[in-house]
Amino acid sequence: MLGYIASNYKKSNYKIVLSEQVYTRLLGLINLCGLNINGEYDEFGSLFYGKFESNGVIFLESPSEVQDYQIQSKSFSMTDSMWKELESKIDDDNCRIFAHFHTHPYFQDDRNRLYSTEDISFYQNLAIGLNSNRKNEDQIIVLGCMASVSGRNISSLDDISFVYYDMRQHEMIYVPSIFVKIGNQEYELEHVPDEYSYNGVSFPIDRTLLEINTDESQKRHR
Ligand SMILES: [Zn+2]
Repeated sequence: MLGYIASNYKKSNYKIVLSEQVYTRLLGLINLCGLNINGEYDEFGSLFYGKFESNGVIFLESPSEVQDYQIQSKSFSMTDSMWKELESKIDDDNCRIFAHFHTHPYFQDDRNRLYSTEDISFYQNLAIGLNSNRKNEDQIIVLGCMASVSGRNISSLDDISFVYYDMRQHEMIYVPSIFVKIGNQEYELEHVPDEYSYNGVSFPIDRTLLEINTDESQKRHR
């Protein structure tokens, strides 16, 4: 198995809304990961802190305040200061939900749209670790968020997905519904079903485009 396709997991009814600040950071990091730096493409990442609103809405409000754009050796991992920030947010602000975001820049093929085995086990272990001493009503949701550069190098085909490990059902869940809030207006990021093929076998990919389409008439109906 090369990796995991988000849309193969059970679908969540949660709706994710990104603030303009979070969306801007996300776009900045995906642009960085498309840069060839000293002959290499690197992964970049951040933390997005959020809160629950009514009716299953998760509002991801603010990106990490610590420096999160340093070049690492290819694969992104949280720095010590990011860990410290996360721990203090959980302790002080009672942060119950956050997203661990990273990019996949490997656009020579379409595999970058898959979560690696390490990605999935990291989210799972972090959720289990953070919740081990917590009561049900205090549970923390750890969203895994991955954005990848289009294999065809077309920026409008860059994509994003969210998953999380459900502590009650003991399985990964996929959150297909992603919006961006600009001013008082929410824009849904468009889904384009696609296929990923490996060794002649095709897997469905439910891909979410990163570009906001503000023209209502062009919105796809789902
Ligand atoms: Zn990864």
